[in-house]
Amino acid sequence: MKTYDNAVLNELIERFFRYTAIPSQSDEKADVLPSSPGQMELAQCLAEELKQMELVDKIILTDDAILTARIKGNPEKHAIGFVAHLDTVDIDLSDVIKPQIVHKEAGKDILLNKEKDIWLRESLIPAIAKYNGQDILVTDGTSVLGADNKAAISVMMTLASQLSSLPSFGCGDVYLAFVPDEEIGLLGAKALDPKRLPVTCAYTIDSNEVGELVCETFNAAVASFAIEGVPTHPMGGKNILVNPIMIVSDILQMLDRAAMPEHTEGREGYIWPTDLEANPTRALLALDIRDHDKEEFEKKKAALHHIHRWLEFTYPTAKIKLTVEDIYENIANSIPHPDEPVVALLAEAMKKCGIRPKYIAMRGGTDGSALSAKGIPTPNYFTGAHHFHSIYEFLPVDSFHLCYQVTEELVRAWAKIAKSSDEVVSLPGK
Ligand SMILES: [Zn+2]
Repeated sequence: MKTYDNAVLNELIERFFRYTAIPSQSDEKADVLPSSPGQMELAQCLAEELKQMELVDKIILTDDAILTARIKGNPEKHAIGFVAHLDTVDIDLSDVIKPQIVHKEAGKDILLNKEKDIWLRESLIPAIAKYNGQDILVTDGTSVLGADNKAAISVMMTLASQLSSLPSFGCGDVYLAFVPDEEIGLLGAKALDPKRLPVTCAYTIDSNEVGELVCETFNAAVASFAIEGVPTHPMGGKNILVNPIMIVSDILQMLDRAAMPEHTEGREGYIWPTDLEANPTRALLALDIRDHDKEEFEKKKAALHHIHRWLEFTYPTAKIKLTVEDIYENIANSIPHPDEPVVALLAEAMKKCGIRPKYIAMRGGTDGSALSAKGIPTPNYFTGAHHFHSIYEFLPVDSFHLCYQVTEELVRAWAKIAKSSDEVVSLPGK
């Protein structure tokens, strides 16, 4: 492993290699939390390391592989939290990750795997050219890199060890939470008891390029129409037979065809059919509902209820059941003003590191969306990595270091604000 003449950077990289060596792919087919044993193994490894750190206490690891710990700070200051997920994406690639550090030379592609002739080419991944002359963490072409989210885990663990040796920070308590199964539906964050995270706000470090600051995500719900028709032999079907396949066809025709993922972007929401099983006896249609705007989100759910009433009126002899379930919330719902300290201090920390924040309304959810629904405002910011969920995932070493520096500056920024200060009166629950 390459070393650098910067202790923090070496620690980050050393941790990254150690944590990526523990395979922790989640498994959508499992119905237990954690969905794979590697996530518990990683959580146990982190818990052991935290036990060695002087200022860390309240280390709790539960059977569901949710690990929380506190870096003890000044009780007069706000407690803040950092949240990372233990799993790597459940994808049809090797779960053994063998990261390597390569030097990117201008105009040259990167050979990921000599034996298998796998390349990271500028023509396919143009973003790589931004990092000419830099050292870059890359895969061996057979797996993801796992910077999603082990870069964040490395940053949080390095923060804990640095804060333990630099108590002069003067910050409040810093809570760390490591949760399983983000990639298969934010399951760990949803299961996390908010009492284990008694903080003013928290942060996930689960976005891509340097500067990304996510303070908006979708509001999300899933819906399903379960339809039981009235099957008969077609020879005697007149005025009796009700075919669920045709009822599904009615539903699909009533949806807004122009407002689906293939025709929307930015802050445009959608209702999207995601699964369908249908035969002449019964049908099951699943839909995703997404919108950044809470009111528009509620209108989309209401539209499905309208459709449901129309179907019940039109097909009185069929049994048609609609279920709608909220699955996560826009993190902005718990951050009423964009200039709230939870976001403003993050932007300030970035600027202190010479980075211009790039605000993103994410077309998806983060663990912060699940925490937001529990009343913990949780924005998200960059790891520095690109191309999550692919063999081309890469993390420039300098960007990784910047991610750590922003994290440390963020803790310093919060350390400047006393809990009793008027500056934070508008924070939720204050
Ligand atoms: Zn992630």
